[in-house]
Amino acid sequence: MNKLQILVVEDDAPVRNLITTTLKVHDYRHITAASGEAAIREASSRNPDVVLLDLGLPDMDGVEVIRRIRSWSNMPIIVISARSEDVDKIEALDAGADDYLTKPFSVEELLARLRVTQRRLAAAQSEALSADSVFINGRLRIDFAAGCAYIDGGELHLTPIEYKLLCLLAKNVGKVLTHTFITQKIWGSSWDNDIASLRVFMATLRKKLEAAPDSPQYIQTHIGVGYRMLRVE
Ligand code: CA
Repeated sequence: MNKLQILVVEDDAPVRNLITTTLKVHDYRHITAASGEAAIREASSRNPDVVLLDLGLPDMDGVEVIRRIRSWSNMPIIVISARSEDVDKIEALDAGADDYLTKPFSVEELLARLRVTQRRLAAAQSEALSADSVFINGRLRIDFAAGCAYIDGGELHLTPIEYKLLCLLAKNVGKVLTHTFITQKIWGSSWDNDIASLRVFMATLRKKLEAAPDSPQYIQTHIGVGYRMLRVE
């Protein structure tokens, strides 16, 4: 059921063609835009399911495109960037992007990111339907009303900060959250020592949550960027 419509924003024609060919082969529908203005226009008039957005556009910075789209829509945005610097990824994620790909990327990477986004969309829809206050992801269950988390039915003994951290990741499952975003939400600040504390709390949370903390199933580390909770089958 790969019938998602993808808006591909890329000014480099060969790269754009490579992406659209890949999408076609894998049954995704697509529309294209070669500039920031065109991207914003297509996003608002066609309401795509996912936006694949190149950050280096001729008329405006891709981060500005994210900010403009985010002023009226939560549609998933995956950033594609030739810039490998973490600072650009972080700026794009903080502006509201959901995920990123660094050029050059493989077709498999692109498809993997789309599958993550697709699962997140499906989960968001089913959660909106059930409208209850319980989050389930594989063996993990969080009862927000009771303020408790369980693995395989057994209660996790979490400190208040660990619980807050787990809920924040769960409520944004599938999305990469930056260190700054997380520390702002947990402590209301983002000093360097908050980021160091975050690392410590994340390590203790993982020890309680993950069956094998060295090869985590739930919480993925994005070195220099942040963390993401994955949807577990
Ligand atoms: Ca470009």
